[in-house]
Amino acid sequence: MTTDTILPPSCRSLRVAVLGAGLMGAPMARNIAAAGCQVSVWNRSADKASALAAPGITPAADPAEAVLNASVILTMLKDANAIAEVMLALPDADSAPAAPVCWLQMSTVGPADMSGLEMLAARKGLTLIDAPVLGTRQPAEAGQLLVLAAGPDSTKEAVQPVLDAVGKATRWLDTAPGKATRLKLALNSWVFALTHGAAESLALARSLGLDPELVADTVRGGPLDTPFFQMKAQAMASGDFTPAFTIDNAVKDSALIVEAALETGVKLDLAEAGLNRYRRVQAQGRGGADMAATFLA
Ligand code: NAP
Repeated sequence: MTTDTILPPSCRSLRVAVLGAGLMGAPMARNIAAAGCQVSVWNRSADKASALAAPGITPAADPAEAVLNASVILTMLKDANAIAEVMLALPDADSAPAAPVCWLQMSTVGPADMSGLEMLAARKGLTLIDAPVLGTRQPAEAGQLLVLAAGPDSTKEAVQPVLDAVGKATRWLDTAPGKATRLKLALNSWVFALTHGAAESLALARSLGLDPELVADTVRGGPLDTPFFQMKAQAMASGDFTPAFTIDNAVKDSALIVEAALETGVKLDLAEAGLNRYRRVQAQGRGGADMAATFLA
């Protein structure tokens, strides 16, 4: 047995391909490189990938170039369609010279998308790890995401250094993909309910002739308060909707929640109403604004 097989893998021995350098993918790529991994990064709009060029981070011209010699592929793309488009551009398992082993799928998708992702993984000779994250742009920048993970035990050691680089903790939930995505959707339902609840409370206050900030001030430090509520209330009161999580992605995830509810037969009134609010804001041309812009619905 060589020393390499005794020591747990560190980031220094890993080549990681990050596909998708949006609000989340870009800081995640930076943090993985900062932990010592060799990162190659690809993004559909090439300027976002080239902006990341630095020691340890190499922009790639296409997805196939990005994954060359990588042992971990990380996808942080908009949705299942984008993931399929990008992953189909990779060489198939039988034509791949040295197939990367692990695919950390960290974008938010729906439970119904999971079988398609598993088929893609099989076709490309990859082991799929379902690993969505909790936390928006700021925790992503700070490497403080909470990773929900489901995948074979045999892959944990190989991918843990990458997950440790992007997150403060990893919650391993299952040895097969699926459970992490289902939990992520349930958690997003709570995140959206909080955001819409804050928006309606502040909007009502304003319509009653009150300063909306009074709502946030009054609950501060009490049992109704959360840091998330304060952050979103501040954005709403100040009108600063710099995106941490866009309205476009909130529409996408709210639709996934409503679709999952239809499939399972549970009645989710708030999710449907919340989806309508986000769609109204999107129709105002504010798809790139932060989800706190539900205040403007
Ligand atoms: P984002 O800034 O909108 O980035 C989306 C990424 O997907 C970009 O790299 C975009 O490329 C790419 N993309 C979209 N359609 C594509 C296509 N057809 N082909 C190839 N690439 C495509 O979103 P984000 O906030 O980084 O989120 C990424 C994923 O993480 C989403 O699934 C989101 O729901 C999830 N998530 C986000 C947060 C958050 O707070 N932001 C938190 C947890 C999870 P271009 O740059 O070329 O458009």
